[in-house]
Amino acid sequence: MTMAEQGAKLVTKPSASKRPAIRPGKTSAARRTKRRPPDPAKAWARKLDRTRPNLVKDVLDGLATIHGHPTWERRLDPTSELILTILTQNSADTNAERAFESLRDAYPSGLVAERHTPGPGWGGMGLSDGAPPDWAAVEFAPVQELVEVIRHGGLANQKAPRLQSTLRTIREARGDYSLEFLAGMAPLDARAWLTALDGIGKKTASVLLMFSFGMPLMAVDRHVERVSHRVGLIPAKASADDAHDLYLALLKPEETYEAHVNLIRHGRVICHARNPEHEICPLRDRCRFVDPKAP
Ligand code: SF4
Repeated sequence: MTMAEQGAKLVTKPSASKRPAIRPGKTSAARRTKRRPPDPAKAWARKLDRTRPNLVKDVLDGLATIHGHPTWERRLDPTSELILTILTQNSADTNAERAFESLRDAYPSGLVAERHTPGPGWGGMGLSDGAPPDWAAVEFAPVQELVEVIRHGGLANQKAPRLQSTLRTIREARGDYSLEFLAGMAPLDARAWLTALDGIGKKTASVLLMFSFGMPLMAVDRHVERVSHRVGLIPAKASADDAHDLYLALLKPEETYEAHVNLIRHGRVICHARNPEHEICPLRDRCRFVDPKAP
């Protein structure tokens, strides 16, 4: 018997009498097994790895040549971090700092002073040393009074009631205003807990969890989003919200903090929205904004 004949014998179908019967109206186990839809973030990471090998590594290495290797340090207690991050939404970091310091002055808690160590990705000057505000006093303040207190931060009419509803929700859920319990949760569970709060999205939740607890959750602000789109780290049509999950698949946990801080810094000082400085950018050889066919 030739090899071909042997092979043909091996793949010969069983006779009808030996095949498992498929009764009308019933489906086989194989048919019943539903395929899970592919994870789009993992699919994108695989595609990038296949079509543009080492892109993530080259970007991280390139950014480090000019922005260094920032190391994580806790910035503030998590409740202060959350309130400060809400104050930065659609406002400059410097204005958010002024509003936060006004909260401290208007509603002093007498607690131990904290040192704010914002790191190089922060766009403000850093808060002066001071104790967190008395969060109960903030929650129960007359809303118009609170609007005046945080007026310097911008969008005070929207943010004052948002601060109060956020503090109320935390107190009602937990009995006090502390968010330290989040440290004991898995990162995505902690993010889900926070995003269930009214007005808290993935970016704000990720900022809090990364800077207060060092959790490996990428926060995607406009700078990170702009650089990521230009280089081609994320698909052209991906929103900032999508990018949070794409980065979970693109980065190793230990790369997340440095990637976040250096991408923000890069967007602030080199890859400006207008007139990006390609000529001094270490990413230019791999940037699809400069060359749509960049490897
Ligand atoms: S090459 Fe230009 S567009 Fe690309 S990341 Fe650098 S500065 Fe931004």
